Amino acid sequence: PTDLNALAEEFIRLTYQSFLAKEPEFICELKTELDPNLPQISVIPQDIGKVLLNLLNNAFYACAERSRSTVQEKAESEIRNSDYKPIVTVSSIYSPLSGEQGQSRDIRRGVIEISVQDNGPGIPDTIKEKIFQPFFTTKPTGSGTGLGLSLSYDIVKAHGGELLVNTKEGEGSSFIIQLNKNVKNG
Ligand code: ADP
Ligand code: MG
Repeated sequence: PTDLNALAEEFIRLTYQSFLAKEPEFICELKTELDPNLPQISVIPQDIGKVLLNLLNNAFYACAERSRSTVQEKAESEIRNSDYKPIVTVSSIYSPLSGEQGQSRDIRRGVIEISVQDNGPGIPDTIKEKIFQPFFTTKPTGSGTGLGLSLSYDIVKAHGGELLVNTKEGEGSSFIIQLNKNVKNG
């Protein structure tokens, strides 16, 4: 059984550290909102770790992009004096089965959700349709393989779960890993 909250805490820090090695100027607030009633489930921690790493790298990249474009806007015209502050949040939430302790929520009972949220630029609708396709990337050559999300999708599916996205242009994106408490093992 894996403590997904601990995995989330570990990966948000590790991924930020490794991102900073590439972009030392990038300052991002890290937040965790973790459900203390999250049950431990038998997943392959390296696999779910890989998914978290991919989602977090995308989140940091998206925030860094938005920081850059905000800085450019400022330089070009002082009109929009935007003070953009990057924030990446990892949250977890469990909707208990009936009879279990805790508040049942708006999601299916027995479902664990881990989400990685950023306040980056968001994803336009035309691109959103393609992001889970292998080799689809909007990043410059050398910055992205376009495999992160397709690989992550396959890993979550292999665990009997779902990988969903919520995004709004100009506000940010949130990628949601849904797993069942009685998980199918990879
Ligand atoms: P890569 O990161 O190598 O480009 P991914 O499969 O991880 O490949 O992502 C595919 C594309 O999805 C990215 O190039 C980007 O256009 C988009 N994308 C993924 N995550 C985000 C995000 N958090 N915010 C904005 N766009 C994103
Ligand atoms: Mg990626």
